Amino acid sequence: MKFKPEKYKLEDVSMQPFIDVDEIEGLLSTTKSTAEEVRRVIAKSLGKERLNMAETAILVNADDPVLIEEIKQGARTLKEKVYGNRIVLFAPLYIGNKCVNNCEYCGFKSSNKDAIRKTLTDEEIIKEVEALEDNGQKRLILVYGEHPHYTPEYIAHTVDLVYGVKKGNGEIRRVNINAAPLDIEGFKTVKDSGIGTYQVFQETYHPEAYKKYHLGGHKKHYGNRLTSLDRAMEAGIDDVGIGALFGLHDWKFEVLSMVRHTNHLEACYNVGPHTISFPRLQDASMINKDDKYIVTDEEFTRLVAILRLAVPYTGMILTARENEKIRKEVLRYGVSQIDGGTKIELGNYSEDETQNDEQDLNREQFKINDDRSLAEVIDELLDDNFLPSFCTACYRLGRTGEHFMEFSVPGFIKRYCSANAILTLAEYIEDYGKESTAIKGWKVIEKQIEELKEFQKVDEIKDRIERIKKGERDLYF
Ligand code: SAM
Ligand code: SF4
Repeated sequence: MKFKPEKYKLEDVSMQPFIDVDEIEGLLSTTKSTAEEVRRVIAKSLGKERLNMAETAILVNADDPVLIEEIKQGARTLKEKVYGNRIVLFAPLYIGNKCVNNCEYCGFKSSNKDAIRKTLTDEEIIKEVEALEDNGQKRLILVYGEHPHYTPEYIAHTVDLVYGVKKGNGEIRRVNINAAPLDIEGFKTVKDSGIGTYQVFQETYHPEAYKKYHLGGHKKHYGNRLTSLDRAMEAGIDDVGIGALFGLHDWKFEVLSMVRHTNHLEACYNVGPHTISFPRLQDASMINKDDKYIVTDEEFTRLVAILRLAVPYTGMILTARENEKIRKEVLRYGVSQIDGGTKIELGNYSEDETQNDEQDLNREQFKINDDRSLAEVIDELLDDNFLPSFCTACYRLGRTGEHFMEFSVPGFIKRYCSANAILTLAEYIEDYGKESTAIKGWKVIEKQIEELKEFQKVDEIKDRIERIKKGERDLYF
């Protein structure tokens, strides 16, 4: 029978439509992870098959350091074999931090009277986007608290506004959203504004833990949140992003639950999540958190590798919540998108850099641990032989489900993704790159073209690079 998300209303407080706690806890307590089993599961993932919950439990329960290393190596191999060395860059733009909810872990919670509340005016949004474009950004995720002010119409209005800002050669070509769950009509309104992905993180999939942390407002309804991406799908948004906030409950439970959520979306809508996010709990103003479930760096790197193997076709997003060192390590385990030059204090992108370099927790949702500029992040990626990409081609050509295509269509990455990454990097170098970045960037591009030669005619790519050098922009395959 088809799942009916509209059936689940806010008042269905205890509704748990597809997460079966006993099943997940049962798997975690009974699964034995022998070397043979772990290797079998890694091999299945490397054969480009998504893992089921029982198989993921085998990876999650593997405690032997040798096996953990094999899991990480498996994730590295999958990343290299399937996705190559592209890393897509984006930036978050906080539009407003008014919030009616009371999530214990968040600096924007309604009970935090120290939080300085602000919603950017249209003029401020334009200034922020201009500042982001001046740095070379092409992809943004707009972030909102939950408040009657932030209606679907208002969200759609801000999306329109962002797409309309053009400064020099700058423009935003893809706008994603992280905001409160909507009803089907609301999702339709936001979809019509031309968004890319709509993200809603479940925070914790464990209903009891969920109840403990979500004390007020709409968000206290577990079932309403759990079914929100079903409503998004019903509204025609087929690029949805799932996530769990690691640190609220046992990380192993959350990983298995995300696999369950994936399998639910696949089964009901024929398409899994476009992206998976795995934010780790950070300090924030006036928060209450339980140290029992703190996720150590070792556990975090492990869980990223396991998620990569479990859902091999999805995009994996890592944010500036993590420090440089951790980011560098987990980039190798299959992360496909990172933010660069992130500022999460409202209105800070357009502020004078020299005025304010300390983070003020009363003005932001949580503390970030990587405050490098986009240029610095790009420099490091180039030094490490990654190919920074601002590509937005699939979304704009209506090739939705692009991560799945990258993964499943032979030659897709080389023909489209690598070529488009090269073209967007060439634009970045021409418009925003320092001389030292240009030298490194052209070298990486040359090397990349050399590698592509084996598989396709590269003249068309070279020709487009020449056109970019002469001033044409936004060329893609
Ligand atoms: N208000 C919307 C909501 O709750 O869905 C938008 C999301 S919020 C602005 C973005 C995400 O930040 C949340 O879903 C949560 O996972 C994460 N977050 C909240 N507090 C955090 C903290 N202290 N550390 C790290 N991430 C946090
Ligand atoms: Fe509000 Fe979202 Fe923060 Fe919860 S996580 S208090 S809903 S901004």
